[in-house]
Amino acid sequence: MITCKQASELVSRTQEGPLSLREKLSLRLHLLICDGCARFAKQVNFLREAMQRYRQ
Ligand SMILES: [Zn+2]
Repeated sequence: MITCKQASELVSRTQEGPLSLREKLSLRLHLLICDGCARFAKQVNFLREAMQRYRQ
């Protein structure tokens, strides 16, 4: 099981490129059990989508 620190690092790395299958799975698993990181991931995804929309 990965830590919250590792999870948030993985979330940030999704901004730069795709994660490996293993990383994706461990991140998803962590987000299922950790509310704080799930919220963080949601925020990051929301921001990324907003940025993409802004750029278009
Ligand atoms: Zn966490």
